[in-house]
Amino acid sequence: TSIADSLTRTVESAGNTISETFFEPTLRLGVTGLSRAGKTVFITSLVANLMDRGRMPGLVAQSEARILTAFLQPQPDDTLPRFDYETHLGALMGATPHWPDSTRAVSELRLSLKVRPSGLLSGLQGPRTLHLDIVDYPGEWLLDLGMMDKSYDAWSQAMLTRMAHRPDPDHFLPMATTDAATAKLDEPVAQRMAAAYTTALHAARAEGFSDCSPGRFLLPGDLAGSPVLTFAPLPPVDKPARGTLYREFERRFDAYKSRVIKPFFQDHFSRLDRQIVLVDALGAINAGPRAVEDLRQTLADILTAFRPGTSSFLSQIFLGKRIDKILFAATKADHLHHTQHGKLTAIMEALTRDARDRARFAGAETAAMSLAALRATTEEMISHQGTTLPCVRGTLMDSGKQAAFYPGDLPEDPNHLLSAARAGTDAWLDQDYSVMSFAPARLTLKPGEGPPHIRLDRAAQFLIGDRL
Ligand code: GDP
Repeated sequence: TSIADSLTRTVESAGNTISETFFEPTLRLGVTGLSRAGKTVFITSLVANLMDRGRMPGLVAQSEARILTAFLQPQPDDTLPRFDYETHLGALMGATPHWPDSTRAVSELRLSLKVRPSGLLSGLQGPRTLHLDIVDYPGEWLLDLGMMDKSYDAWSQAMLTRMAHRPDPDHFLPMATTDAATAKLDEPVAQRMAAAYTTALHAARAEGFSDCSPGRFLLPGDLAGSPVLTFAPLPPVDKPARGTLYREFERRFDAYKSRVIKPFFQDHFSRLDRQIVLVDALGAINAGPRAVEDLRQTLADILTAFRPGTSSFLSQIFLGKRIDKILFAATKADHLHHTQHGKLTAIMEALTRDARDRARFAGAETAAMSLAALRATTEEMISHQGTTLPCVRGTLMDSGKQAAFYPGDLPEDPNHLLSAARAGTDAWLDQDYSVMSFAPARLTLKPGEGPPHIRLDRAAQFLIGDRL
């Protein structure tokens, strides 16, 4: 399929000549994860480290000194926003470093790598160029896939059930009555309900709940305020009459599916070759059992997107092409001493086990790992009441002060954590487990050094190493 692919892409991307696209392979890498998972920091650090190639020993082509140059080029998709690499890097690398603005919508960046071939022919062949097209998009948008095969009625019932256990600051649930559903459409009422529902989604997100569909309600981009984002779930109505709120919300729900969800999957998602799914597992663990259970369910929902066979909609748009490698990565591992990284990876594996089994079944190679795209801490052993605790030290976000910190111990067996989460236990972890928020560390880099990270090179090896 790869030649056919290159040709299709040539037709699609008016800027490229046939020969360039044909002879210089492209690899489209999707980077996703729920909001705040770490996508922006990951892409920025990956690109910086590939361009400077100072700290990537785990990337085999790099350790063999075969990457000759890596440079940014105009991307092939003219209508897609460019990933704002320079601004994000500037935020992280400035005199007073701060975290960059997070992903709000889909964006793209082309990094071209000039590579000397390996093996027997390396002496005979000149360098090759691989175009790495990195596509950044909110994981929330993948959740919308679950809406594609659902009717408005079924989606409404699922969301209303979930909302019963979630915060509802603007009192959406009391508004979502059968009376309201069967009343005549009144646009201000519709807007108030959609706004209250959106507030509830944001509040749920803030408490660590993950499944907050429709995804565009949280990250609307240029669709903010449009009718296609002005609906909310309603209780079931038997044969709703024309002109009622229920009928109009149902119509908008269908429009959301055909005008928002479908184009995203068709134009962007279906063209990916490789995928990394970033997960702020530590954040959820910190937020407590309900958040972990919600994260587990949400990941399961998100990851159905990587099984085209399960959805007739997806099989149609994939047409036999498939993502062949998927990496599940727990981010922000620098919040933990490295002695705890194995436990975090085990939790990540357990969280995504079902999905990984299924993806493997569908032909994709998968792996789980813990990483920090940008390391904001250093490690330290501190004696405390007769024991030595493995700590991390960094600059605290709130106060700007330096602090060393022991977040507590993750459980040996990840299944304990997950079953405790499922049971909604109050006894959560051994002690008051908590993770601090650290500011990015001030970097003093020598020329040719990329920003420090944890296992970013191994992630790169898994995702693109075989093509270098
Ligand atoms: P996005 O919404 O997925 O684009 O998430 P971001 O990349 O903007 O990351 C969200 C926040 O997570 C950042 O503002 C940081 O506070 C934190 N973060 C992301 N990556 C790292 C990391 O490697 N180390 C640490 N300590 N914090 C991180």
